[in-house]
Amino acid sequence: MPIYEYKCSKCGKTFEALQSISAEPLNKCIYCRGRVKKLVSLSSFQFKGSGWYINDYKKDGAGAKKSTPPKKVEKKTDKNANTN
Ligand SMILES: [Zn+2]
Repeated sequence: MPIYEYKCSKCGKTFEALQSISAEPLNKCIYCRGRVKKLVSLSSFQFKGSGWYINDYKKDGAGAKKSTPPKKVEKKTDKNANTN
């Protein structure tokens, strides 16, 4: 479940709310019930800025790729050459 961050325009506090993607965004401050604004998720922001996530991605990708080696490509090109 993603964590959404909200900032209250009344008391200025920020707070996080754990919500499912389909859930409606909060519109009330949990402290003062003032109007809140949804902030862009901090985690996805830091992802792009620092780039550390690329390392993380590589680790995951390497493991996944090993189980499915791409080998079907050769036959396909062969057939295409014949029809041409
Ligand atoms: Zn508030």
